[in-house]
This record gives sequence, structure tokens and C-alpha cells, in this order.
Amino acid sequence: MTRRRIIAGNWKMFTDLEEAVALARGVAEATARFATDVDVVVIPPSCLIAPVVSALGESHVGVGAQNMHPEPRGAYTGELSGPMLTSVGCSYVVCGHSERRHLFGETSEFVGTKVAAAHRFGLTPILCVGETLEEREAGETEAIVGEQLRRGIDGLTKEEIAATIIAYEPVWAIGTGRTASAEQAQAVHAHLRAQLVKRAGAQVAEAVRIQYGGSVKPSNAGELLSQPDIDGALVGGASLKADSFAGIVGA
Ligand code: PEP
Repeated sequence: MTRRRIIAGNWKMFTDLEEAVALARGVAEATARFATDVDVVVIPPSCLIAPVVSALGESHVGVGAQNMHPEPRGAYTGELSGPMLTSVGCSYVVCGHSERRHLFGETSEFVGTKVAAAHRFGLTPILCVGETLEEREAGETEAIVGEQLRRGIDGLTKEEIAATIIAYEPVWAIGTGRTASAEQAQAVHAHLRAQLVKRAGAQVAEAVRIQYGGSVKPSNAGELLSQPDIDGALVGGASLKADSFAGIVGA
């Protein structure tokens, strides 16, 4: 099966209104020629989703959120819900980014409730998994990402699993300039797909898109994306400039 590639840019907390609108327009223009082959997604800070959606107009670029709360509404000061995100034109949501797990204490169980809620409210979840350097050096990578995956997709139907995007992001490679080698990344992606086969069967596992994330840039994207189980990239730093992001999409 050929899986459609998906390149998503996580802008984290790095853009104000003016920068976000300019970057969104720049991305739309610089990636337009790849639109028939690749899904292109930008993930601005939440308060800038609506202006980014409107700046993108009818373009090919999808918009995602960096996080959301699993409940549709309620007394959760500071949080955003799935229905709120879809109401402003958001289509994707990142669940369980390592910064949420490590800086804000999100557990795999909580992340799983977000993934399920995303499907319930019509958003495509991007479920992030990844090991720390310590865990890799202890030989625990497969066990850690396997458990994060298992809890992340807990309770989903096969259709929902097929429509979930997984992002393998080794924590030691995020924002460090250190990238997993294409072989290291492929080995973990193959492991994740094997876990998906066990959980949901070969047909569903073959449909799931697994992105790699961790210091992806135009110069290393081609080799990573040529691996059989790497179906896209989740990009942080290099997504903040339209030309470097477009260079990754082009790869
Ligand atoms: C990320 O935060 O998801 C990420 C991959 O960041 P960077 O590309 O900067 O390593």
C-alpha cells in the first residue's frame, strides 16, 4: 500500500500574530507545487489558529492544534476543546508531544483520552511517542514506545486506528540538532507498525501513517523519508521558515 506522505510543522510558542500569518502564507506559496502528492499541515499556537486558517483561505495547507483537552466543555480554565478547535477550522491535533509529557506531566493514559476525543470530535490526532536518551541507552526504546502506543490508541475502533497519525519523536533528537539515523528511525517505525498489526491487523497497520520527528531539516529529510515505514515528518525548528519547511516537503 502507498501511504500519502504528511509533513507537519509544529510552531510551538514561537510566533506572534504577524509572524504566524506571514509564515502561513509563505508555506502555502512555497509548498503549492507539492500539494497533489503530500499533505502539508501547520500547527500554530492555539490563539493564532483562527487567523492562520483565514490567511490560508482555500489553500492546500491544513491546520492543527498543539494540544487539547478531552472534554467537550467545562470548568477547565486555560484549556481548549475539540469542538472549539473544529469551530475555527482546525483539522488535526497533536496529542502527547514529549514537551507535554515531560514539562506538563501528561501520562500515556491521559494522552489516550485525547486521541479518542479527537476522533469523537472530528479531528485527526497526531499521537507522539518517543524514548529519552536514558531509556534508549538502557535498551528500552521498543518497550517505551510500544507502551505509549498501546495506551495512546486504547479503546479505538480499527477505523479510528487507521485514521490516527503516529509521530515517532525520540526525545533526545527534539530541538537538539541530533537526528536519529535513518536506520535507527526505520527500526522503531517498523516496531510500531508490528505492534499495530498485533492490535488491529495487517490491513489497518498498513494504512497508518507514521511520521518521524526530531531535528528534521531539508538536508536529512530525503534519507529519512526514503525509509519504507517513514511516512512523513513532524518538524519543529525547521518549520519556522517557509523555505526550509518547503525543502522538507519537497524531499
Ligand atoms: C518537535 O518538537 O516535534 C520537533 C521535532 O522539534 P525539532 O524539529 O526542532 O527537533
